[in-house]
Amino acid sequence: MPGFELWGAEERKEVNDVLETGVLMRYGFDGPRQGMWKARELEAAICQTFGARHAQLTSSGTAALTTAMSALGIGYGDEVIMPTFTFVASFEAVLSVGAIPVLVDVDESLTLAPEAVKAAITPRTKCIMPVHMCGSMAHMSELKAICKANNLLLLEDACQSIGGSYKGQFLGTIGHAGTFSFDYVKTITCGEGGVVMTNDEDIYEKCDGFTDHGHDHKGVDRGADLHPFVGYNFRISELNAAVGLAQIRKLSTILEIQRRNNKMLRSYLEKIPGIRFRVIPDPEGDNASFLSWFLPTEEMTRAAVAELKSQGILAGNFYWYDNNWHYIRKWDHLKYAATLNNINPLQKEALDKLAEASFPDSDAIMSRCISTAISLTWTEEQIRNKGEQMVAAISKAVSEAAATV
Ligand SMILES: *Cc1c(COP(=O)(O)O)cnc(C)c1O
Repeated sequence: MPGFELWGAEERKEVNDVLETGVLMRYGFDGPRQGMWKARELEAAICQTFGARHAQLTSSGTAALTTAMSALGIGYGDEVIMPTFTFVASFEAVLSVGAIPVLVDVDESLTLAPEAVKAAITPRTKCIMPVHMCGSMAHMSELKAICKANNLLLLEDACQSIGGSYKGQFLGTIGHAGTFSFDYVKTITCGEGGVVMTNDEDIYEKCDGFTDHGHDHKGVDRGADLHPFVGYNFRISELNAAVGLAQIRKLSTILEIQRRNNKMLRSYLEKIPGIRFRVIPDPEGDNASFLSWFLPTEEMTRAAVAELKSQGILAGNFYWYDNNWHYIRKWDHLKYAATLNNINPLQKEALDKLAEASFPDSDAIMSRCISTAISLTWTEEQIRNKGEQMVAAISKAVSEAAATV
């Protein structure tokens, strides 16, 4: 998963360029910056690498989602369909623009189940937001067709799947807009940062202004810019963008290592009786930052977690079902609308309903799922050891759990 594992001289060099001039801001100061425009350069590199027409850097992935939704005109009273399994940032962004998060089941792809999406559409639905979780993609053909048939916006949360693709298109560039996060644990990092990508110039211009107090960035004098609409400050700093520049040049190496290590670990885990792997709509496009797998029952999965823990080898294995950041089961703060300020009445009504809702289809999948994070630093021997230890521990847990039923 993390680009931080390859931190090195390249990142230091880029940051040092900025430290030399002391111009830490992405706009203005044309003279003192001596030709150094790290944020601009990174945006150009993002467009080139992923084939997006436009890219707007932001201060975080959460800010990128908020920016994208605002630029797409999503706000009060609008429903955004999103999965029950994602990082909390996805619904934070929806709430932040005044819209209503509509939580919908995932299938064994660990992303939105298209049939469940269809069933959730109401006259208020404005946008479908698939989240390409853990390195791999949603059912994009189906979701695109649903959006088209119902005249809905498609916003991809690709924060966890940088470099992944679907049928030849990079994740995050397929919908009306898409976002990456460059926080510290993502595939490539800026320390903190994010980006909105879009092929639509109008959406891009809105993102550009929105992230900088509504400045239109049309003149040469920033102080004299017009403000055609209200914005915020979601700017990235030159220091963070500099880190990202070094990291994006390492992306192909990162993906290559990740894919190799993922495949090798999988060749061991395949020996576990009853194991199944996540459904990947386009296997070639997996960014491979995680290897996600299922055991036949929740009991067996819990037994496997307990056994991995007791053998001291649980680290790097995520049982999302019990984790309070990624799965709806433990999002009490969302369900009970624990916000610091008043939310709007339509949001409150929707969250009250959510508190009563159950998601048996998602539960049946997530309670049997474990994701193993793939490290860039593993040697072949470490993967073999890890694989053999995991196979032994999990097989033992599975057979003991099977014997007790
Ligand atoms: C990390 C992440 C985000 C938010 O990114 P930050 O940069 O941490 O704000 C949004 N969605 C998903 C799925 C993520 O994993």
